[in-house]
Amino acid sequence: MKPVNFDYARPADLDAALALVGDDSRAVKVIAGSQSLGPMLNMRLVQPELLVDITAIEALKHVEERSDAVVMGACVTHADIEDGRVPDVTRGALPAVARGIAYRAVRNRGTIGGSLTHADPSADWISILAALGASVTLRGPSGERRLAVEDYMLGALEADLRPGELLVSVTVPRLSLSARWGYYKICRKTGEFAHAIGAFLVDPERHVSRAVIGATESRPIVVANARQLLGDGRPGAFDARAAESLAEAAGMADAIDRQIHVAALRRAIERAQVQ
Ligand SMILES: Cc1cc2nc3c(=O)[nH]c(=O)nc-3n(C[C@H](O)[C@H](O)[C@H](O)COP(=O)(O)OP(=O)(O)OC[C@H]3O[C@@H](n4cnc5c(N)ncnc54)[C@H](O)[C@@H]3O)c2cc1C
Repeated sequence: MKPVNFDYARPADLDAALALVGDDSRAVKVIAGSQSLGPMLNMRLVQPELLVDITAIEALKHVEERSDAVVMGACVTHADIEDGRVPDVTRGALPAVARGIAYRAVRNRGTIGGSLTHADPSADWISILAALGASVTLRGPSGERRLAVEDYMLGALEADLRPGELLVSVTVPRLSLSARWGYYKICRKTGEFAHAIGAFLVDPERHVSRAVIGATESRPIVVANARQLLGDGRPGAFDARAAESLAEAAGMADAIDRQIHVAALRRAIERAQVQ
C-alpha cells in the first residue's frame, strides 16, 4: 500500500513550523526520522493533508550542556547520542542505551523526540529517561510547558501532545560522580524492541533512587523511591515480591509477564551494583 496524497513542507525555523502545525483547517502531521511514521503512512493508518518535516530546523538539533543537565533538541538522533555528539552527563547510560536501539540505519534517522511522541511502550528512551528523571519541553499556541518524561506518555501510542504543539527539547539531569545506573532489556534478538525493560538509578549525592519497569502494555511503571525495592540494602539485595506487587498494582495482570519484567529490573539493579 502507498500513502494518500499529501502536501509536504520542510520549514527552516521553529516559528514557521509552529505556524504550519497550528493550522487547524487541515489534517497536519509532523514527521521527524520517519522510522515509525513512514510505515504508518504507507499502511494509511495516518492520512495527513500536510506533512511537516521538522528535520531542517537547527534549533531542534541544538545541544546545550549546562552545569546540572544537558538539553537536547527533539531532532537529535539516536546515532548522535551513540557517537558522543551529545555530551554525556549520565555516566554512559544514554550512549549505552542508544547502541541497543534497532540497527545503525534506524539510529541514523530515528530521533529522541519522535521516539517519545510515538509513545511505543517497548521503546528504549521512555524507560531510561524516566529512570534518569528527564523532562520534555513542548511549545505551542499557549506557550511552553515542561513535563516529566513519564507524564508525557499517556498510554500506548498516546503522548500528551496538544493541538498545534511540538516537542522541542529533552532535558536530562547531570548525574553525580558517585551515581550508578543499570539497564536491562529482554528481547529475542539484539536491537529489537523489548519484551521487558528494567532501568535503575541510584545517585546518593542528589538523594535520588529511581526504578522503572518498562515495555509494559502502557506507560512505564516508575518507582520514584526505589529504596523500597532494595531489601535490607546489602549489595545484591532485591525485594522481588515488592516489585511484583507494584507491577500488579499498576495493572500487569499476567503472572508470567510480571515475573519477566521483575527479572529485567533485578538484572538492571545488579548491573548498577557491579559498576
Ligand atoms: C526496524 C525498526 C526497529 C526499531 N527498534 C527499536 C528499538 O529497539 N527500540 C526503540 O526504542 N525504538 C526502535 N525503533 C523506533 C525508532 O527508534 C524511532 O525512534 C521511532 O521510530 C520514532 O522516531 P522518528 O524520529 O523516526 O519519528 P517519526 O516516525 O518521524 O514520528 C513518530 C511520531 O512522532 C511525531 N513526532 C516526531 N517528532 C515530533 C516532535 N518533535 N514534536 C511532535 N511530534 C513529533 C510524529 O508526528 C509521529 O506521530 C525501531 C524502528 C524500526 C523501523
